[in-house]
Amino acid sequence: MAMDLFEFARRAERIGGELQGGMLARVNELGWSLDEGHYELTGGGAQGGPQWIEVQASGQLRAVCQRCLGALVWSLSTKTRLEIAESEAAIELFEDDVDRVAGDRSLDALMLVEDEIILALPMVGRHEVCVAQQSVEPQTGALGRALGAWSAKRGQSS
Ligand SMILES: [Zn+2]
Repeated sequence: MAMDLFEFARRAERIGGELQGGMLARVNELGWSLDEGHYELTGGGAQGGPQWIEVQASGQLRAVCQRCLGALVWSLSTKTRLEIAESEAAIELFEDDVDRVAGDRSLDALMLVEDEIILALPMVGRHEVCVAQQSVEPQTGALGRALGAWSAKRGQSS
């Protein structure tokens, strides 16, 4: 799906579609797999001002938690506006923090989307609170109740 970024922005075009797991090889290499997702690319720019392309992606990804090895589900929601620069060399010359993409080559739209997904992924794939840690809290589930009853009985006999 190669595209001319300058043309895309000039015409204020918009494309979008469903994302499927097999499309995101680099995301898969990082240990994440996609359940379902959607992407949208929008072009624009004021006359005389910089042209830009907005990359949006949302969906659900999963990985194996690096702490408890349980299943980790993560909701993706990213939206980034990239200014279109003349070339990679031109991008090097800017000294600000604006995100840019080189418009001097025909670009694979999905590659651009995947770049943004990778930037949005959590640094470390793990639960904020692991399920294994939650389950040791008392009074949760049958085991917790049994343990609670047991310790209550012990409390009476001592
Ligand atoms: Zn975990």
